[in-house]
Amino acid sequence: MLIGQDIAILGAGVAGLAAARALAFRGAKVTVYERAEAITEVGAGLQLSPNGVAVLTALGLDAASVAMRSNGVMLLDGYTGRTVLHMDLKRYRPDNAFLLMHRADLIDLLAQGARDAGVEIKLLHSVERVTETDASVVLDFENGTQATHAVVIGADGLKSRLRTALNGDVDPFFTGQTAWRAIVPALGGEEPIAMVHMAHGKHVVCYPLRDGSLINIVAVEERSDWTEEGWFHRGDPAELTDHFSGFGGGIPSLLARVTEVSRWGLFRHPVAQHWHGTRTALIGDAAHPTLPFLAQGANLALEDAWVLADCLANMPLESALPAYQLRRRARAERVIEAANGNARNYHLKGPKRAVAHAVLRAGGAVAPRAVIDKFSWLYDHDVTTQTQ
Ligand code: FAD
Repeated sequence: MLIGQDIAILGAGVAGLAAARALAFRGAKVTVYERAEAITEVGAGLQLSPNGVAVLTALGLDAASVAMRSNGVMLLDGYTGRTVLHMDLKRYRPDNAFLLMHRADLIDLLAQGARDAGVEIKLLHSVERVTETDASVVLDFENGTQATHAVVIGADGLKSRLRTALNGDVDPFFTGQTAWRAIVPALGGEEPIAMVHMAHGKHVVCYPLRDGSLINIVAVEERSDWTEEGWFHRGDPAELTDHFSGFGGGIPSLLARVTEVSRWGLFRHPVAQHWHGTRTALIGDAAHPTLPFLAQGANLALEDAWVLADCLANMPLESALPAYQLRRRARAERVIEAANGNARNYHLKGPKRAVAHAVLRAGGAVAPRAVIDKFSWLYDHDVTTQTQ
Protein backbone atom coordinates (compact mmCIF):
# COMPACT_ATOMS: atom_id res chain seq x y z
CA MET A 1 0.00 0.00 0.00
CA LEU A 2 0.95 3.63 -0.40
CA ILE A 3 -0.57 5.08 2.76
CA GLY A 4 0.24 8.80 2.89
CA GLN A 5 2.80 8.60 0.03
CA ASP A 6 3.10 12.02 -1.55
CA ILE A 7 2.69 11.63 -5.32
CA ALA A 8 2.27 14.39 -7.91
CA ILE A 9 0.94 13.82 -11.42
CA LEU A 10 1.58 16.21 -14.30
CA GLY A 11 -1.42 16.43 -16.62
CA ALA A 12 -5.14 15.79 -16.14
CA GLY A 13 -5.70 13.77 -19.31
CA VAL A 14 -6.77 10.13 -19.53
CA ALA A 15 -3.47 8.78 -18.18
CA GLY A 16 -3.07 11.29 -15.36
CA LEU A 17 -6.61 11.10 -14.02
CA ALA A 18 -6.74 7.29 -14.18
CA ALA A 19 -3.39 7.04 -12.37
CA ALA A 20 -4.59 9.56 -9.78
CA ARG A 21 -7.61 7.48 -8.86
CA ALA A 22 -5.66 4.22 -8.92
CA LEU A 23 -2.98 5.63 -6.58
CA ALA A 24 -5.43 7.37 -4.24
CA PHE A 25 -7.33 4.09 -3.87
CA ARG A 26 -4.09 2.54 -2.68
CA GLY A 27 -3.69 5.18 0.01
CA ALA A 28 -1.45 7.76 -1.69
CA LYS A 29 -1.90 11.50 -1.21
CA VAL A 30 -2.20 12.58 -4.85
CA THR A 31 -1.95 16.05 -6.39
CA VAL A 32 -2.59 16.54 -10.13
CA TYR A 33 -1.16 19.63 -11.84
CA GLU A 34 -2.90 20.66 -15.05
CA ARG A 35 -1.88 23.59 -17.22
CA ALA A 36 -5.39 24.33 -18.52
CA GLU A 37 -7.82 26.57 -16.66
CA ALA A 38 -10.52 23.89 -16.63
CA ILE A 39 -10.77 20.14 -17.07
CA THR A 40 -12.38 20.16 -20.47
CA GLU A 41 -11.85 18.17 -23.62
CA VAL A 42 -12.15 18.96 -27.26
CA GLY A 43 -15.24 17.58 -28.95
CA ALA A 44 -14.14 14.30 -30.40
CA GLY A 45 -14.75 10.61 -30.16
CA LEU A 46 -12.75 7.73 -28.77
CA GLN A 47 -13.06 4.02 -29.23
CA LEU A 48 -12.39 2.13 -26.01
CA SER A 49 -11.64 -1.57 -26.25
CA PRO A 50 -11.93 -4.28 -23.56
CA ASN A 51 -8.27 -3.86 -22.50
CA GLY A 52 -8.93 -0.21 -21.58
CA VAL A 53 -12.46 -0.77 -20.25
CA ALA A 54 -11.06 -3.44 -17.88
CA VAL A 55 -9.03 -0.73 -16.15
CA LEU A 56 -11.99 1.62 -15.83
CA THR A 57 -14.09 -1.20 -14.38
CA ALA A 58 -11.35 -2.14 -11.90
CA LEU A 59 -11.26 1.54 -10.88
CA GLY A 60 -14.99 1.30 -10.14
CA LEU A 61 -15.97 3.52 -13.09
CA ASP A 62 -18.90 2.54 -15.30
CA ALA A 63 -17.78 3.74 -18.73
CA ALA A 64 -20.63 1.95 -20.49
CA SER A 65 -23.13 4.22 -18.72
CA VAL A 66 -21.77 7.24 -20.63
CA ALA A 67 -20.84 5.52 -23.90
CA MET A 68 -22.42 3.62 -26.78
CA ARG A 69 -21.66 -0.05 -27.15
CA SER A 70 -19.96 -0.70 -30.48
CA ASN A 71 -21.42 -3.48 -32.62
CA GLY A 72 -18.23 -3.81 -34.60
CA VAL A 73 -15.76 -2.43 -37.10
CA MET A 74 -16.40 -2.30 -40.84
CA LEU A 75 -13.73 -1.76 -43.48
CA LEU A 76 -15.18 -0.43 -46.73
CA ASP A 77 -13.98 0.43 -50.19
CA GLY A 78 -13.88 4.21 -50.00
CA TYR A 79 -14.93 4.67 -53.65
CA THR A 80 -17.90 2.31 -53.80
CA GLY A 81 -18.92 1.97 -50.16
CA ARG A 82 -18.80 -1.81 -50.63
CA THR A 83 -17.93 -3.82 -47.50
CA VAL A 84 -14.43 -5.30 -47.47
CA LEU A 85 -14.52 -6.75 -43.96
CA HIS A 86 -17.09 -6.73 -41.20
CA MET A 87 -15.72 -7.48 -37.76
CA ASP A 88 -18.99 -8.35 -36.06
CA LEU A 89 -18.13 -7.79 -32.41
CA LYS A 90 -21.73 -7.98 -31.27
CA ARG A 91 -22.01 -11.49 -32.63
CA TYR A 92 -18.55 -12.90 -31.95
CA ARG A 93 -17.57 -10.96 -28.83
CA PRO A 94 -20.93 -10.41 -27.11
CA ASP A 95 -19.38 -10.35 -23.63
CA ASN A 96 -16.65 -7.81 -24.42
CA ALA A 97 -17.13 -4.08 -23.99
CA PHE A 98 -16.12 -2.16 -27.11
CA LEU A 99 -17.30 1.41 -26.53
CA LEU A 100 -17.77 4.55 -28.62
CA MET A 101 -17.34 7.49 -26.31
CA HIS A 102 -17.12 11.26 -26.36
CA ARG A 103 -13.70 12.29 -25.00
CA ALA A 104 -15.30 14.88 -22.74
CA ASP A 105 -17.48 12.19 -21.15
CA LEU A 106 -14.45 10.00 -20.42
CA ILE A 107 -12.53 12.93 -18.94
CA ASP A 108 -15.55 13.93 -16.80
CA LEU A 109 -15.89 10.37 -15.54
CA LEU A 110 -12.19 10.15 -14.66
CA ALA A 111 -11.98 13.63 -13.11
CA GLN A 112 -15.00 12.98 -10.89
CA GLY A 113 -13.56 9.58 -10.04
CA ALA A 114 -10.24 11.15 -9.04
CA ARG A 115 -11.90 13.83 -6.91
CA ASP A 116 -14.15 11.24 -5.22
CA ALA A 117 -11.01 9.31 -4.28
CA GLY A 118 -9.58 12.41 -2.57
CA VAL A 119 -7.25 13.65 -5.33
CA GLU A 120 -6.49 17.37 -5.41
CA ILE A 121 -6.48 18.83 -8.95
CA LYS A 122 -4.63 22.11 -9.34
CA LEU A 123 -5.50 23.96 -12.54
CA LEU A 124 -3.43 26.68 -14.25
CA HIS A 125 -0.24 24.91 -13.19
CA SER A 126 1.90 24.49 -16.26
CA VAL A 127 5.07 22.63 -15.34
CA GLU A 128 8.18 24.19 -16.82
CA ARG A 129 10.94 22.21 -15.17
CA VAL A 130 11.24 18.94 -13.28
CA THR A 131 14.34 18.49 -11.08
CA GLU A 132 14.96 15.19 -9.40
CA THR A 133 17.15 14.93 -6.29
CA ASP A 134 17.92 11.91 -4.12
CA ALA A 135 15.23 12.85 -1.63
CA SER A 136 12.49 14.51 -3.69
CA VAL A 137 11.36 16.01 -6.99
CA VAL A 138 11.04 19.76 -7.44
CA LEU A 139 8.51 21.21 -9.88
CA ASP A 140 8.79 24.73 -11.25
CA PHE A 141 5.63 26.15 -12.75
CA GLU A 142 5.15 28.81 -15.39
CA ASN A 143 3.15 30.90 -12.86
CA GLY A 144 6.33 31.30 -10.81
CA THR A 145 5.41 28.87 -8.02
CA GLN A 146 7.30 25.75 -6.99
CA ALA A 147 6.28 22.44 -5.39
CA THR A 148 8.20 19.49 -3.98
CA HIS A 149 6.95 15.90 -3.96
CA ALA A 150 8.32 12.48 -3.10
CA VAL A 151 7.33 10.95 -6.46
CA VAL A 152 6.27 12.59 -9.74
CA ILE A 153 4.45 10.98 -12.65
CA GLY A 154 4.60 12.60 -16.08
CA ALA A 155 1.21 12.24 -17.80
CA ASP A 156 1.71 15.49 -19.69
CA GLY A 157 1.18 14.14 -23.18
CA LEU A 158 3.05 14.53 -26.46
CA LYS A 159 5.29 17.40 -25.37
CA SER A 160 6.00 16.09 -21.89
CA ARG A 161 8.38 18.13 -19.75
CA LEU A 162 9.30 15.07 -17.74
CA ARG A 163 10.03 13.10 -20.90
CA THR A 164 12.46 15.83 -21.93
CA ALA A 165 14.05 15.85 -18.46
CA LEU A 166 14.60 12.08 -18.63
CA ASN A 167 15.44 11.68 -22.32
CA GLY A 168 16.45 15.04 -23.72
CA ASP A 169 14.77 16.53 -26.77
CA VAL A 170 13.89 14.25 -29.68
CA ASP A 171 12.43 15.61 -32.90
CA PRO A 172 9.34 13.72 -34.10
CA PHE A 173 9.08 13.22 -37.84
CA PHE A 174 6.15 14.18 -40.03
CA THR A 175 4.48 11.06 -41.44
CA GLY A 176 3.33 12.89 -44.56
CA GLN A 177 -0.25 12.45 -43.33
CA THR A 178 -2.69 15.17 -42.42
CA ALA A 179 -5.86 14.52 -40.45
CA TRP A 180 -9.14 16.40 -40.16
CA ARG A 181 -11.48 15.92 -37.27
CA ALA A 182 -15.11 16.97 -37.01
CA ILE A 183 -18.36 16.13 -35.27
CA VAL A 184 -21.73 16.50 -37.02
CA PRO A 185 -25.30 15.88 -35.83
CA ALA A 186 -26.49 12.39 -36.77
CA LEU A 187 -29.42 11.91 -39.11
CA GLY A 188 -30.72 9.13 -36.89
CA GLY A 189 -30.63 5.37 -37.18
CA GLU A 190 -26.87 5.04 -37.78
CA GLU A 191 -25.62 1.72 -36.46
CA PRO A 192 -23.06 1.90 -33.62
CA ILE A 193 -20.22 0.67 -35.78
CA ALA A 194 -16.80 2.15 -36.52
CA MET A 195 -16.64 2.50 -40.32
CA VAL A 196 -13.28 2.82 -42.05
CA HIS A 197 -13.64 3.98 -45.67
CA MET A 198 -10.34 3.21 -47.43
CA ALA A 199 -9.09 4.90 -50.62
CA HIS A 200 -5.79 5.62 -52.39
CA GLY A 201 -3.66 7.49 -49.87
CA LYS A 202 -6.72 8.46 -47.82
CA HIS A 203 -9.24 7.09 -45.38
CA VAL A 204 -12.22 8.30 -43.39
CA VAL A 205 -13.29 6.85 -40.03
CA CYS A 206 -16.75 7.63 -38.68
CA TYR A 207 -18.93 6.38 -35.86
CA PRO A 208 -21.86 7.60 -33.76
CA LEU A 209 -21.53 9.06 -30.26
CA ARG A 210 -23.81 10.04 -27.38
CA ASP A 211 -26.89 7.85 -27.92
CA GLY A 212 -26.41 8.21 -31.63
CA SER A 213 -27.06 11.97 -31.72
CA LEU A 214 -23.60 12.83 -33.08
CA ILE A 215 -21.23 11.39 -35.69
CA ASN A 216 -17.49 11.55 -35.06
CA ILE A 217 -15.38 11.93 -38.21
CA VAL A 218 -11.62 11.57 -38.70
CA ALA A 219 -10.39 11.96 -42.29
CA VAL A 220 -6.73 11.24 -43.08
CA GLU A 221 -4.85 12.10 -46.25
CA GLU A 222 -1.28 11.63 -47.45
CA ARG A 223 0.04 14.96 -48.68
CA SER A 224 3.40 16.49 -49.18
CA ASP A 225 2.87 19.86 -47.53
CA TRP A 226 3.75 19.97 -43.88
CA THR A 227 1.02 20.53 -41.30
CA GLU A 228 1.64 21.40 -37.68
CA GLU A 229 1.16 18.82 -34.92
CA GLY A 230 -1.63 19.38 -32.39
CA TRP A 231 -5.39 19.15 -32.42
CA PHE A 232 -6.46 22.74 -32.41
CA HIS A 233 -5.62 24.13 -35.84
CA ARG A 234 -8.76 25.29 -37.55
CA GLY A 235 -9.36 23.70 -40.94
CA ASP A 236 -11.61 24.65 -43.83
CA PRO A 237 -14.75 22.48 -44.32
CA ALA A 238 -14.73 23.29 -48.05
CA GLU A 239 -11.16 22.01 -48.38
CA LEU A 240 -12.18 18.83 -46.54
CA THR A 241 -15.07 18.10 -48.90
CA ASP A 242 -12.90 18.96 -51.88
CA HIS A 243 -10.04 16.66 -50.88
CA PHE A 244 -12.37 13.71 -50.19
CA SER A 245 -14.72 14.33 -53.12
CA GLY A 246 -13.73 11.08 -54.83
CA PHE A 247 -15.33 9.03 -52.06
CA GLY A 248 -18.69 7.28 -52.40
CA GLY A 249 -20.85 5.35 -49.95
CA GLY A 250 -22.34 8.21 -47.96
CA ILE A 251 -19.06 10.05 -47.33
CA PRO A 252 -19.78 13.09 -49.56
CA SER A 253 -23.13 13.74 -47.86
CA LEU A 254 -21.56 13.20 -44.43
CA LEU A 255 -18.72 15.64 -45.11
CA ALA A 256 -21.12 18.16 -46.63
CA ARG A 257 -22.68 18.50 -43.14
CA VAL A 258 -19.37 19.56 -41.55
CA THR A 259 -19.42 23.21 -40.47
CA GLU A 260 -16.32 23.22 -38.22
CA VAL A 261 -13.22 21.16 -38.66
CA SER A 262 -9.76 20.97 -37.09
CA ARG A 263 -6.73 19.88 -39.07
CA TRP A 264 -3.34 18.71 -37.94
CA GLY A 265 -0.26 16.83 -39.04
CA LEU A 266 0.41 13.29 -37.83
CA PHE A 267 3.91 12.82 -36.44
CA ARG A 268 5.77 9.73 -35.31
CA HIS A 269 7.60 10.03 -32.00
CA PRO A 270 9.99 7.37 -30.85
CA VAL A 271 9.01 5.43 -27.73
CA ALA A 272 10.91 7.06 -24.84
CA GLN A 273 14.17 5.33 -24.05
CA HIS A 274 13.90 6.01 -20.32
CA TRP A 275 10.44 5.73 -18.78
CA HIS A 276 11.59 6.51 -15.26
CA GLY A 277 14.18 8.19 -13.07
CA THR A 278 14.73 7.36 -9.42
CA ARG A 279 11.54 9.16 -8.29
CA THR A 280 9.74 9.81 -11.57
CA ALA A 281 7.90 7.85 -14.26
CA LEU A 282 6.19 8.55 -17.59
CA ILE A 283 2.77 7.23 -18.60
CA GLY A 284 0.49 7.51 -21.63
CA ASP A 285 1.46 9.65 -24.61
CA ALA A 286 4.34 11.11 -22.59
CA ALA A 287 6.05 7.70 -22.78
CA HIS A 288 4.82 6.35 -26.11
CA PRO A 289 2.72 8.50 -28.45
CA THR A 290 0.99 6.40 -31.11
CA LEU A 291 -0.69 7.18 -34.39
CA PRO A 292 -4.48 6.91 -34.08
CA PHE A 293 -4.89 4.04 -36.62
CA LEU A 294 -5.57 1.31 -34.07
CA ALA A 295 -7.53 3.50 -31.64
CA GLN A 296 -5.27 2.51 -28.76
CA GLY A 297 -3.60 5.65 -27.32
CA ALA A 298 -6.14 6.17 -24.54
CA ASN A 299 -6.44 2.43 -23.96
CA LEU A 300 -2.68 2.15 -23.48
CA ALA A 301 -2.76 5.18 -21.18
CA LEU A 302 -5.31 3.41 -18.98
CA GLU A 303 -3.21 0.24 -18.93
CA ASP A 304 -0.08 2.22 -17.96
CA ALA A 305 -1.91 3.98 -15.14
CA TRP A 306 -3.04 0.71 -13.62
CA VAL A 307 0.31 -1.07 -13.94
CA LEU A 308 2.30 1.83 -12.49
CA ALA A 309 -0.04 2.09 -9.49
CA ASP A 310 0.17 -1.69 -9.03
CA CYS A 311 3.99 -1.68 -9.10
CA LEU A 312 4.26 1.31 -6.75
CA ALA A 313 1.84 -0.27 -4.27
CA ASN A 314 3.54 -3.64 -4.20
CA MET A 315 7.28 -2.96 -4.43
CA PRO A 316 9.83 -0.56 -3.02
CA LEU A 317 10.26 2.50 -5.24
CA GLU A 318 13.68 1.46 -6.59
CA SER A 319 12.29 -1.79 -8.00
CA ALA A 320 8.75 -0.55 -8.76
CA LEU A 321 9.82 1.90 -11.46
CA PRO A 322 11.99 -0.50 -13.53
CA ALA A 323 9.34 -3.22 -13.07
CA TYR A 324 6.72 -0.84 -14.49
CA GLN A 325 8.81 -0.14 -17.60
CA LEU A 326 9.52 -3.83 -18.06
CA ARG A 327 5.81 -4.71 -17.89
CA ARG A 328 4.78 -2.02 -20.36
CA ARG A 329 7.43 -1.30 -22.94
CA ALA A 330 7.19 -4.32 -25.24
CA ARG A 331 3.42 -4.12 -25.31
CA ALA A 332 3.40 -0.41 -26.15
CA GLU A 333 5.92 -1.03 -28.95
CA ARG A 334 3.83 -3.85 -30.39
CA VAL A 335 0.67 -1.75 -30.40
CA ILE A 336 2.46 1.20 -32.01
CA GLU A 337 3.91 -1.04 -34.72
CA ALA A 338 0.43 -2.44 -35.45
CA ALA A 339 -0.98 1.11 -35.69
CA ASN A 340 1.81 2.09 -38.09
CA GLY A 341 0.92 -0.97 -40.19
CA ASN A 342 -2.71 0.13 -40.42
CA ALA A 343 -1.55 3.52 -41.72
CA ARG A 344 -0.04 1.71 -44.71
CA ASN A 345 -2.80 -0.88 -45.16
CA TYR A 346 -5.71 1.58 -45.21
CA HIS A 347 -4.07 3.62 -48.00
CA LEU A 348 -2.96 0.92 -50.47
CA LYS A 349 -2.98 1.66 -54.18
CA GLY A 350 -3.23 -0.34 -57.40
CA PRO A 351 -2.87 -4.13 -57.50
CA LYS A 352 -1.75 -4.34 -53.86
CA ARG A 353 -5.03 -2.80 -52.83
CA ALA A 354 -7.10 -5.19 -54.94
CA VAL A 355 -5.26 -8.22 -53.57
CA ALA A 356 -5.44 -7.03 -49.96
CA HIS A 357 -9.18 -6.35 -50.21
CA ALA A 358 -9.81 -9.74 -51.84
CA VAL A 359 -7.89 -11.50 -49.06
CA LEU A 360 -9.82 -9.61 -46.37
CA ARG A 361 -13.17 -10.36 -48.06
CA ALA A 362 -12.34 -14.05 -48.32
CA GLY A 363 -11.10 -14.20 -44.71
CA GLY A 364 -14.23 -12.46 -43.46
CA ALA A 365 -16.49 -14.83 -45.42
CA VAL A 366 -14.72 -18.07 -44.51
CA ALA A 367 -13.62 -17.43 -40.94
CA PRO A 368 -15.28 -14.30 -39.53
CA ARG A 369 -14.44 -15.19 -35.94
CA ALA A 370 -10.79 -15.87 -36.74
CA VAL A 371 -10.44 -12.39 -38.24
CA ILE A 372 -11.44 -10.94 -34.87
CA ASP A 373 -9.43 -13.45 -32.84
CA LYS A 374 -6.28 -12.21 -34.60
CA PHE A 375 -6.57 -9.23 -32.25
CA SER A 376 -6.91 -11.28 -29.06
CA TRP A 377 -3.38 -10.28 -28.04
CA LEU A 378 -4.60 -6.69 -28.02
CA TYR A 379 -8.12 -6.79 -26.64
CA ASP A 380 -7.88 -9.71 -24.20
CA HIS A 381 -4.88 -8.24 -22.42
CA ASP A 382 -6.23 -7.45 -18.94
CA VAL A 383 -3.61 -5.67 -16.85
CA THR A 384 -5.89 -5.73 -13.82
CA THR A 385 -5.60 -9.51 -13.49
CA GLN A 386 -1.86 -9.72 -14.17
CA THR A 387 0.92 -9.40 -11.67
CA GLN A 388 3.88 -9.72 -14.06
P1 FAD B 1 -3.22 13.80 -23.12
O1 FAD B 1 -4.62 13.39 -23.37
O2 FAD B 1 -2.53 14.59 -24.15
O3 FAD B 1 -3.21 14.60 -21.74
C1 FAD B 1 -2.09 15.34 -21.32
C2 FAD B 1 -2.55 16.38 -20.30
O4 FAD B 1 -1.40 17.04 -19.78
C3 FAD B 1 -3.43 17.46 -20.92
O5 FAD B 1 -4.54 17.71 -20.09
C4 FAD B 1 -2.49 18.68 -21.01
O6 FAD B 1 -3.18 19.91 -20.92
C5 FAD B 1 -1.61 18.45 -19.80
N1 FAD B 1 -0.29 19.06 -19.91
C6 FAD B 1 0.54 19.08 -20.98
N2 FAD B 1 1.68 19.72 -20.71
C7 FAD B 1 1.57 20.14 -19.42
C8 FAD B 1 2.44 20.86 -18.56
N3 FAD B 1 3.63 21.32 -18.98
N4 FAD B 1 2.03 21.12 -17.29
C9 FAD B 1 0.81 20.67 -16.84
N5 FAD B 1 -0.05 19.98 -17.63
C10 FAD B 1 0.34 19.72 -18.90
N6 FAD B 1 -7.03 6.56 -28.36
C11 FAD B 1 -7.85 5.51 -28.12
O7 FAD B 1 -7.59 4.71 -27.20
N7 FAD B 1 -8.99 5.30 -28.87
C12 FAD B 1 -9.31 6.13 -29.90
O8 FAD B 1 -10.32 5.92 -30.58
C13 FAD B 1 -8.45 7.23 -30.18
N8 FAD B 1 -8.74 8.06 -31.19
C14 FAD B 1 -7.91 9.08 -31.45
C15 FAD B 1 -8.21 9.90 -32.53
C16 FAD B 1 -7.37 10.93 -32.83
C17 FAD B 1 -7.72 11.77 -34.01
C18 FAD B 1 -6.20 11.16 -32.05
C19 FAD B 1 -5.27 12.28 -32.40
C20 FAD B 1 -5.91 10.37 -30.96
C21 FAD B 1 -6.76 9.31 -30.67
N9 FAD B 1 -6.49 8.46 -29.60
C22 FAD B 1 -7.30 7.42 -29.36
C23 FAD B 1 -5.28 8.67 -28.77
C24 FAD B 1 -5.61 9.29 -27.42
O9 FAD B 1 -6.41 10.43 -27.57
C25 FAD B 1 -4.33 9.67 -26.66
O10 FAD B 1 -3.39 8.64 -26.77
C26 FAD B 1 -4.63 9.89 -25.18
O11 FAD B 1 -5.49 11.00 -25.04
C27 FAD B 1 -3.35 10.10 -24.38
O12 FAD B 1 -3.69 10.47 -23.06
P2 FAD B 1 -2.63 11.16 -22.13
O13 FAD B 1 -3.35 11.40 -20.84
O14 FAD B 1 -1.36 10.40 -22.12
O15 FAD B 1 -2.29 12.55 -22.84
